Amino acid sequence: MSKRRIKKVAVIGSGIMGSGIACHFANIGADVLLLDIVPRELIDVEKAKGLTLNDKVVRNRLVNDSLKSALKSKPSPIYHQKFADRITTGNLEDDIAKVKDVDWIIEVVVERLDIKKIVFENLDKHRTPGTLITSNTSGIPIKFMSEGRSEDFQKHFCGTHFFNPARYLKLFEIIPGPKTSNEVLEFLNEYGEKFLGKTSVVAKDTPAFIGNRIGIFGIQSLFHQVKKLGLTVEEVDKLTGPVIGRPKSATFRTVDVVGLDTLVHVANGIYENCPNDEAHELFKLPEFINTMMENKWLGSKTGQGFYKKVKGDNGKSEILSLDLDTLEYRSKKRASFATLELTKTVDKVIDRFPILVSGKDKAGEFYRKNFAAMFEYVSNRIPEITDELYKIDDAMKAGFGWEHGPFQIWDAIGVEKGIEIMKAEGKTPAAWVTDMLASGSSSFYTVKDGATYAYDIPKKAQEKIPGQDAFIILDNIRKSNEVFKNSGVVIEDLGDGILNCEFQSKMNTIGGDVLAGLNKAVDLAEKDFDGLVIGNQGANFSVGANIGMIFMMAVEQEYDELNMAIKYFQDTMMRMRYSSIPTIAAPHGMALGGGCELSMHADKVVAAAETYIGLVEFGVGVIPGGGGSKEMALRAQDTFRKGDVELNTLQEYFLTIGMAKVATSAYEAFDMGVLQKGKDIVVVNKDRQIATAKAHARLLADAGYTQPVKRKDIKVLGKQALGMFLVGTDSMEASNYISEHDQKIANKLAYVMAGGDLSEPTLVSEQYLLDIEREAFLSLCTERKTLERIQHMLKTGKPLRN
Ligand code: NAD
Repeated sequence: MSKRRIKKVAVIGSGIMGSGIACHFANIGADVLLLDIVPRELIDVEKAKGLTLNDKVVRNRLVNDSLKSALKSKPSPIYHQKFADRITTGNLEDDIAKVKDVDWIIEVVVERLDIKKIVFENLDKHRTPGTLITSNTSGIPIKFMSEGRSEDFQKHFCGTHFFNPARYLKLFEIIPGPKTSNEVLEFLNEYGEKFLGKTSVVAKDTPAFIGNRIGIFGIQSLFHQVKKLGLTVEEVDKLTGPVIGRPKSATFRTVDVVGLDTLVHVANGIYENCPNDEAHELFKLPEFINTMMENKWLGSKTGQGFYKKVKGDNGKSEILSLDLDTLEYRSKKRASFATLELTKTVDKVIDRFPILVSGKDKAGEFYRKNFAAMFEYVSNRIPEITDELYKIDDAMKAGFGWEHGPFQIWDAIGVEKGIEIMKAEGKTPAAWVTDMLASGSSSFYTVKDGATYAYDIPKKAQEKIPGQDAFIILDNIRKSNEVFKNSGVVIEDLGDGILNCEFQSKMNTIGGDVLAGLNKAVDLAEKDFDGLVIGNQGANFSVGANIGMIFMMAVEQEYDELNMAIKYFQDTMMRMRYSSIPTIAAPHGMALGGGCELSMHADKVVAAAETYIGLVEFGVGVIPGGGGSKEMALRAQDTFRKGDVELNTLQEYFLTIGMAKVATSAYEAFDMGVLQKGKDIVVVNKDRQIATAKAHARLLADAGYTQPVKRKDIKVLGKQALGMFLVGTDSMEASNYISEHDQKIANKLAYVMAGGDLSEPTLVSEQYLLDIEREAFLSLCTERKTLERIQHMLKTGKPLRN
């Protein structure tokens, strides 16, 4: 059989999930046919226009409206608005025959078995044999849906469960039906990881599969505990948020966002379909949830849930929280616990768990009860929902945004210590856990030679987790492959002659120690290796330069030192470009300010699709001073072509900095000129990023990399450009678009990007531009309003417009 390729998919159903899934396939370059039902009634606008139910616009109204509203929603389901052109819409009556041309049909219609069965019956008539056909059901058993379908259908049918929102949540559960072929399962498993950028998890056909079964257990368990422990909604959110590596929305705020009705629907499904679950009663809804459902307090969609936003007397909005005893909204109370204070200085979340479960206060009690219940539940779900313990962790991390799964947390506490806590809480682990300890494995996971092993229950031994060879997990090699370390970076040997420089600073800010580390990395690579990757696997690539350090020097008026520090930054960036080895930057998440400048100076960028990159220095009252202003001027002139209005091109690059634009995906960064077509590339799966970056470093090295020639041919436009910019900023200030201080910063940037006030267009060197960039940066650091901006950012994390 020829290799299966996915060029075209049909998505059936364009609701919340259908539209999101359609957009995600468009994101990765597939052609999408999105179909939905024909509306049965005309709406007023259609009546007013004299349309009938036979008119095409009416027949496709449902699907077109759904897609349109999805494309407008925030955060956007699509990497780039122009990718929406890859989606064609239609309806299930006129266009169903078109599914014969697609490689994969994904059913995403309402969660009703009767409806899904009719849809599949129709699709079976039109699909070409061999076409993949899958359902996005959250809970209907897969085996029921393919009943009565053709043999070929059943062989190519299974569940493919995306999580909402499809672009952002990484879990992709694959649920085989009774006759799904192995070829199909293996293909989807790989496709999910490699092309969709997901964590593929093959689950058994049990109610709610893996992610929701465990996730809903966790939430229900909290619903039942919160009143018993006398905790408030905001206290539970504090205890179950970032402190334990979970999203900021934690528990109750997440339910508000997802919708209480969605959660209740899944919980009820588990309650009805899992009568033998030892935690069966826990899936029954507590009284306060029933009342909330009756009151339609479903969360964001109905304006109130566990939280409610109101406008106070002073016109300021306030977020109230629900008192679960009185079921009335009241002002939020500050949630603080002594145990949490103890973890404030513990940077790595995984190191906090032993401290949290030893807490002497209510928080300690909460964590002991919670983890004891969770450990018992997850251990008992094997082999019911999966045979492999790591799949439960994978599902929770990818589907719920947890940094660590239950078994990893249990390992962090210590398996035996965990059992001790469980016993004290009246809980017992499944027998295989005690068997594991008896067999000599003292933890669920181990790391050997850079690879992760997990305990295999039938084999009673640690087995290498399959599929990880496409990944490089820095956590696994940081110690064993360390070549150099200082307080800002660790430099690791990635093998095959390639080094990696990994930031270790808070939020991966770039300060003196990181810059020293980068220089050291280039030194080492030039001496003994063939290439260098600058990459990490933290939450963000880098939030930018360490502005705390800049602030201190500026306040103390140590301008010489500040000048040297900025020069050091610039020189380091230039070394990224002008060294004898190829350098590859691997940005992901936030890559702001200095993080963006660093990326722009590497020989190549291997960006994660989810990269939010931009030069945001205006927000702290300065211009990009680490070569970013120079680089944008250089790139603008590189795109000058005969006949182009050069000033307009330059202005576009100027505005990218002046408006502190941040791309909402790597693809948008190409439009901004921050990433460059033909040079930089995008990987959809962040987990593959370092391995891909390494491969590209190797390729460049093997192609005979030589140090680029220093540029002295940068055409700057001088007074001609400066004049235009100054007129522009003046009128913007006059019409109150920007503040006086904004104008001052913009004029400094204008000076740099124009190459100063040269009387005519001139060719200059990069160093010339860097020198005027640094001068402008320094002069802004003497401004009181710039210092206020920096201070505000340091205090609140938000920009101040003064
Ligand atoms: P939705 O209500 O937003 O969309 C349902 C779609 O089904 C609509 O486009 C509707 O027009 C269409 N539809 C209705 N009747 C139909 C019929 N008779 N024939 C064909 N199509 C019909 O629902 P959703 O949230 O997008 O859920 C769709 C599927 O995805 C469900 O199986 C659901 O369980 C699953 N799912 C939902 C989520 C979530 O968070 N919403 C997450 C994962 C999986």
